[in-house]
Amino acid sequence: MDEVLAAARVVDFSKAGERTLCDACLGRLFGKVGHGYTNEARGRAVRTIAPLGADPCWICEGLTSRYEDLADLVVRQLEPWEFASFCIGSKIDPEVAAREESLWAELSLSAAEPLKAEVNREIGKRVSERLRKEADLARPEVVAVVDTVFDHVDVQVNPLYLRGRYRKLARGVPQTRWPCRRCMGKGCARCGGTGKMYPTSVEEVIAAEVMRDSGGTGHALHGMGREDVDARMIGRGRPFIVEIKEPRRRTFDLAAVVARINGSGTVEVDGLVPARGSDVVPLKEDRVPKTYRILLRMAPPVEEAKLKKTLPVLVAEPIAQRTPERVVHRRADTTRHRRLLAAEVVGVEGDRAELRVTAEAGTYVKEWVHGDHGRTRPSLAERLDVACEVLELDVLDVHDG
Ligand SMILES: [Zn+2]
Ligand SMILES: [Zn+2]
Repeated sequence: MDEVLAAARVVDFSKAGERTLCDACLGRLFGKVGHGYTNEARGRAVRTIAPLGADPCWICEGLTSRYEDLADLVVRQLEPWEFASFCIGSKIDPEVAAREESLWAELSLSAAEPLKAEVNREIGKRVSERLRKEADLARPEVVAVVDTVFDHVDVQVNPLYLRGRYRKLARGVPQTRWPCRRCMGKGCARCGGTGKMYPTSVEEVIAAEVMRDSGGTGHALHGMGREDVDARMIGRGRPFIVEIKEPRRRTFDLAAVVARINGSGTVEVDGLVPARGSDVVPLKEDRVPKTYRILLRMAPPVEEAKLKKTLPVLVAEPIAQRTPERVVHRRADTTRHRRLLAAEVVGVEGDRAELRVTAEAGTYVKEWVHGDHGRTRPSLAERLDVACEVLELDVLDVHDG
């Protein structure tokens, strides 16, 4: 405590006038001096050389003596939530903050600690002891914000994130809930009152099962890209993170959740593991090639030999794609440049051909097949000089390393 006393000896406390300070508020004037002391202990030491009254406290008006009660309040408000880490925030009366800052100026102090920092730490210590849980300032699962004026605690519950890979076994299923175009989700005759364009989505199948065990007020699904509504996603599946807002529980049997999802017949996941919020952006921004299975109809039919000669030539060529007609109503009409990385003929039967194509991220594969009325060049249809129609499209793999 010598360093605290040394700092206090050079202060002219007569400039504090008639003001009285509690131990914690007196000690906090030197709160950044020395380590391992509470401000209360600093204050008791400083009082031996500073002739200041203690009561009532001019700065905090008794707040520093109420940490036990406030910690009780926090513990009660956190009761409904399961969490492993927390942190405390606080709202301090601005007039209290202004009073302490004016005193720092009058006494020319440079190592004082704000009341807010002490409140957060002291309540946090007590809550940590009572709940036997760690405070985590960087990535807390819940944040309890203590309003010290109204003795009210606001609990902010951070989302639960789980990651995995999904397979979509059925066509006509969007990745995320797609609001009805006519009623914008309110429910109308077109959507049969559901407010949705499609009865379900990958997100709804997965999130419904996670929500059953976690509780929560809402959800989101973040995919590493997305396939068309009418395309299946098979093979190893597509990486995703499901986000559950305000979960009540965070630890439950993930294998049981996976089993229920896989029982849907629509969507399968190969496993769910905990993830972090900071994983979402890198996942969404990951631009990786995809391999597709394409079943197409050619009119008139084309010989397998000709197809086998044409495909390798197309693999080498840059493709210029104007925004497809089917999406240009919702996206800017620009031109993207992509390449095929591989393409092979799986088989030809009459006017049907099956191809396996690997394309760079963001390639409009259907348009590469049929040409989109000349908006994609070159296209398979252009090079074969026949009309091509995509009958089925499946994503066979997402090459994320
Ligand atoms: Zn005080
Ligand atoms: Zn509708």
